[in-house]
Amino acid sequence: MRFQSTRDAQLTAGFGEALAQGLAPDGGLYVPIEWPSVQAASFAARESLAGIGSRLLAPFAAADPLAPSLADITAEAFDFPAPVVALGGTGRLAILELFHGPTAAFKDFGARFLAACLARLRGPASRPLTILVATSGDTGGAVAAAFHGRPGIEVAVLFPKGLVSPTQERQLTCWGGNVRSFSVRGTFDDCQRLVKQAFLDRRWQQERSLSSANSINLGRLLPQTVYYAAASLAVYRAHGERASFIVPSGNLGNAVACIWARRLGLPIAEVVLAHNANRTVSDFLDTGDWRPRASVPTLASAMDVGNPSNMERLRAIYPDLSEIRSAVSACTVDDEAIRARIRTGYQELGQIWCPHTATAAEAYARLAAQRRDGGRWVLVSTAHPAKFREIVEPLIGREVAVPESLAKLFARPTECTEIDADLGSLRDALRDGRVSEGR
Ligand SMILES: *Cc1c(COP(=O)(O)O)cnc(C)c1O
Repeated sequence: MRFQSTRDAQLTAGFGEALAQGLAPDGGLYVPIEWPSVQAASFAARESLAGIGSRLLAPFAAADPLAPSLADITAEAFDFPAPVVALGGTGRLAILELFHGPTAAFKDFGARFLAACLARLRGPASRPLTILVATSGDTGGAVAAAFHGRPGIEVAVLFPKGLVSPTQERQLTCWGGNVRSFSVRGTFDDCQRLVKQAFLDRRWQQERSLSSANSINLGRLLPQTVYYAAASLAVYRAHGERASFIVPSGNLGNAVACIWARRLGLPIAEVVLAHNANRTVSDFLDTGDWRPRASVPTLASAMDVGNPSNMERLRAIYPDLSEIRSAVSACTVDDEAIRARIRTGYQELGQIWCPHTATAAEAYARLAAQRRDGGRWVLVSTAHPAKFREIVEPLIGREVAVPESLAKLFARPTECTEIDADLGSLRDALRDGRVSEGR
């Protein structure tokens, strides 16, 4: 299949090409030109995530050089589970745990899939590839983990200085080798702007082969449809009803994947976007005015996005406001409500939620009773609470157990370079080669 830019439908690329480019040459995002349709009944009852993935994604990779490797790629990328766990009460609520990968956040799925693809796209004569990634927390760690040690590929992780939790920062700066970390004097939006500028800058294109691993990359987004497929199929088989998902959202990569999965024909009913105090999307749905703004820092820092890139993909699939409004709804949760929800989640359900997952739980609590009781709701849990222990532990009054994968990362030394939020500083720092040591 071919993919087209959200800005100019004439600009198209094949699957592997779109993954390697990251952003389309006109600055748009790649989206599928057509939607294959899948039948829920065609998936076997106990099919693995990797098996569902290779069948679901096969039409997208058809005729591409990567097509013959797709089964190997999904087996390599999806080698940890994404369980749907029932949550007390009425029995109609469940949680989709996306935090069982190497860096304990859902971004491991997309990052590992993309890395497995890009590694296979490289030939012996390929120029070294630089992956630029802007992160407000979890992306950087997931991408670093997925590409660490891969020959011929270098990763530059950009994060906003002082705006990620100490635990997050450790995971962004603990890699070394082919992964370098830059703490940018600015916000996440500045980091994202730098990446976009580098892509559109001719000199950068000449100097190095660039790719992006942000959720603007199709290779991050498409694989995320796989866990929605698996989860919705599991719910459908167990209860004969379509699942509705509440997705903690920032840049909208995870939510668009859920919407794409529904478009592919999977048994998904509602999609609710749970946002923190960054209300650009909620305001847009309320007023019809798209007014991107500076991001504000919140407890759910991986969702601190004031100008969500993947809105372009949402508008590509639903050009009219009325269509968008019937396709999704949104809810805004401030820090006070996040804190309160983390407390009640623990007290009432024995659940320990990261601040992002807590926004979804709060969004659920705010649904009208009729809507809540009429649906099969699935809260999407995007990260393990141990990644946000500084926030979570004081609220629940106990320590959060650290999964083994994270404990290993926390034990590594860290290094990182501080830069200004402009392209010149990034270019100089990348050229400088070695980074300063620090702990
Ligand atoms: C990235 C992230 C989000 C937001 O996902 P988007 O795809 O940017 O909307 C939510 N929660 C966690 C833990 C994340 O890392």
